[in-house]
Amino acid sequence: MKKDKKIEVSENFEEIDNFCEECKKEDESVSQNLILTGFKTCNSCKLSKTIFPI
Ligand SMILES: [Zn+2]
Repeated sequence: MKKDKKIEVSENFEEIDNFCEECKKEDESVSQNLILTGFKTCNSCKLSKTIFPI
């Protein structure tokens, strides 16, 4: 049984880089948001997505 993506991400935590997929900038919030939300975004992109959902 294949594990879901979030668990795989958690197991590979140390290999996660902190580059946001939205703005391509490095931010320490990216890995935290990836684990919490499943999206590899920094806080500012996460906020803009929340305010302006596509
Ligand atoms: Zn970003």
